[in-house]
Amino acid sequence: VSTPAGPPPDGSGEFGLIAWFRARAERTAAVAFGIGDDCAGLRFTPGREVLITTDMLLDGRHFLSAEHTPEQIGRKAMGVNLSDIAAMAGVPLAAVVSVGLPLHHGSRSAEELARRLFHGLNGMARECGVALVGGDTNAWDGPLVVSVTVLGEATEKGPVRRSGARPGDVVLVTGRLGGSLASGRHLEPRPRISEALALHQAANLHAMIDVSDGLAADLNHILEESGNLGAVLSAMAIPVHPDAERAAAGDGRSPLDHALGDGEDFELCFTVGPDDANRLLAEPPARVTLYRIGDITPESGLRLAHPDGRVEPLEPMGFDHLGGDAERSAP
Ligand code: ADP
Ligand code: MG
Repeated sequence: VSTPAGPPPDGSGEFGLIAWFRARAERTAAVAFGIGDDCAGLRFTPGREVLITTDMLLDGRHFLSAEHTPEQIGRKAMGVNLSDIAAMAGVPLAAVVSVGLPLHHGSRSAEELARRLFHGLNGMARECGVALVGGDTNAWDGPLVVSVTVLGEATEKGPVRRSGARPGDVVLVTGRLGGSLASGRHLEPRPRISEALALHQAANLHAMIDVSDGLAADLNHILEESGNLGAVLSAMAIPVHPDAERAAAGDGRSPLDHALGDGEDFELCFTVGPDDANRLLAEPPARVTLYRIGDITPESGLRLAHPDGRVEPLEPMGFDHLGGDAERSAP
């Protein structure tokens, strides 16, 4: 346990705030030293790939500070980054966070906001065994910005890339999809870290991605990275989340459309050879839910097979981060 040097950790002033963070940040075996110096010092396993990922969340774009609590925003910011480590079947170890705090945030002081954000960030990190080892805290006359960077390492089997899919592979996902934005579920990502590690142990995972932009868009990334392969998805087999049904009732798009196109489900989508697929489906690792949704084909392009035998091209619709407004592209 680190003891804060200097001012008491009452959270007042920049240095008090940092002492307050320092007193609450977890120390794990991977951390030689954490908050309180110019850098954090980490220990990784020799010979393993170091995994590093960063994601920035903007008020009005990825969350709404008028609606969502700072704790929720912190949990989401940490969770989406942890999900990227899960998508490589890696072990997340440490995180740093940079925040731009709005100076005029209603009645809330920038310091109170910083502390509540930290609770969300640190809580999500702690639940996943990850140490928050540093960051940067700034305030400005602009909206809230939260950027998280997570460091992790590959297991002894190496990282699972997007690029390893092969024709004949089976495509699986770890949970139901769609409607996370409408329901608010996007604010509570559940990074599938233990699920990914269990799957990586149990089978030869060829390619994997986390569903952040939407199933069709994210699977398309696997297809392109794997040498412009294709996939046929079975419409009947797509696991539609109850939130997608509710979203569909609200906007007239079909629940299936929502499941294929909405993002921020943070489930894993991966491909394995047919033998591994059959084995995993017959006997999934403990606490892992699996749905078989389709097959990888040598001819490129994503297609959707309907129960009546019709097969139609599927646009890799999904979230375009550089789109003009914060909406999902229409199907
Ligand atoms: P420096 O000026 O050397 O960059 P800072 O004053 O920015 O140092 O930060 C002091 C210490 O507090 C550093 O260890 C830094 O990583 C940590 N820190 C600053 N902001 C945060 C934050 N929001 N969450 C966690 N650690 C933080
Ligand atoms: Mg700094």
